[in-house]
Amino acid sequence: MAYIEPAPIKDAENPLESMMERFNLAAEKLGLSEEVYNVLKNPAKQVIVSLPITMDNGKIQVFEGIRVIHSNILGPAKGGIRFAPDVHLDEVKALAAWMTWKCAVVDIPYGGGKGGVRCNPREMSKGEIERLMRAYTLAMLDVFGPDKDIPAPDMGTGPREMAWLMDEYSKAKGMTVNSVVTGKPLVLGGSLGRTEATGRGVMVSALAAMQKLKINPFQATCAVQGFGNVGSWASLLLEERGLKIVAISDISGAYHNVNGINIQEAIAYRDGNNGTLEGFKGAEKLNDPMELLELDVDVLVPAAVEDVITIHNVDRIKAKLIVEGANGPTSAKADAIINEKGIMAVPDILANAGGVTVSYFEWVQNRLGYKWTAERVNRRSDRIMKDAFDHVYEASIKYDVPMRIAAYIVAIDKVAKTYTFRGGF
Ligand code: NAD
Repeated sequence: MAYIEPAPIKDAENPLESMMERFNLAAEKLGLSEEVYNVLKNPAKQVIVSLPITMDNGKIQVFEGIRVIHSNILGPAKGGIRFAPDVHLDEVKALAAWMTWKCAVVDIPYGGGKGGVRCNPREMSKGEIERLMRAYTLAMLDVFGPDKDIPAPDMGTGPREMAWLMDEYSKAKGMTVNSVVTGKPLVLGGSLGRTEATGRGVMVSALAAMQKLKINPFQATCAVQGFGNVGSWASLLLEERGLKIVAISDISGAYHNVNGINIQEAIAYRDGNNGTLEGFKGAEKLNDPMELLELDVDVLVPAAVEDVITIHNVDRIKAKLIVEGANGPTSAKADAIINEKGIMAVPDILANAGGVTVSYFEWVQNRLGYKWTAERVNRRSDRIMKDAFDHVYEASIKYDVPMRIAAYIVAIDKVAKTYTFRGGF
């Protein structure tokens, strides 16, 4: 299953501007000075390289590689590398800034970065992808580094590519440097608990929000859209904590059972059925999979793709709480109506930050030359997620804003204060 952090902002013509809209709202509430505003709105570093690769047919093809460091004021930059045909600088800049806010919200000592190579990995052989990844790494040798910029997988890349990156970087440095990248295979220094980390963070955020809303988990119902890494782990862990999961879905459709779906059974079914829920008998298939979002449940977890809650369906949403497992599942216009309806939405940069938190633990373990148990990883990430939720909740009360804007406020405030103390302009 894919390991992506974070996703694209596909609906916007200019993703950077779309990200800046929410940034602007938070900056205004905070009364951010114009000087700091101008610093934060521009990425610290943008690197574009040409990567000539010998393809399997013997011809040389040139690919464009990008790496953007939005900010490294809080620590080394952190962010994925995507291999996709539509990678472009504005998108990478927006995603790098998004990583700055995400890391700051959960208070881990990282700045934000993002990278990409414009290519279509689906049409490339394993050998071509490996040569491209190695060439990209060599070209970014001065950018990457455990104390400078730590990449991770994103769309179109995974543990295999991270292993190649680590190997190429290590060869160039003349020693094994596994802390230069996260999302590695376990045997190369990947962390236990990373697979379930994002779903686990969704569960912690949901329980914390339910406590504030006085919803008893043992009497609560929940619908989860998406049954991949994030959705299935969130479903399982929420079920374990008493919630009745009445609907789940994946690309094959949505499945509803008012008596509750047995999530262990659904996962076992999916795993034995080519990764899909198609034909699952533990629930009834809904005619329209989008109906899942409109069910009369207490908690709704969109954990599939972006832009599923929009002005076209937001009026029909009945959940009291939305916990964003996916990146960008709610469009900015729908945001306003969610707020009017009094629904609490725990935003993506908070709710799905469990993944980057355990990536941070991977780096910490690599630097210590030590391996933590899954229990230690889970305990520490649960605490970080709960503290971050409380912090954002307090900000939402203090500034009288929804949780989404409060999350941006917490993040921007932290980065801005650090700039003020460090100074040096
Ligand atoms: P995944 O590929 O493992 O699973 C995606 C799931 O969504 C699959 O079950 C797929 O069938 C389903 N799906 C796709 N389109 C759908 C649709 N239109 N309706 C219903 N279901 C649909 O991906 P994932 O890692 O679980 O990521 C899901 C979301 O969470 C993405 O937005 C991703 O960026 C975000 N996210 C993931 C992580 C992570 O650690 N995996 C971290 C942060 C954010």
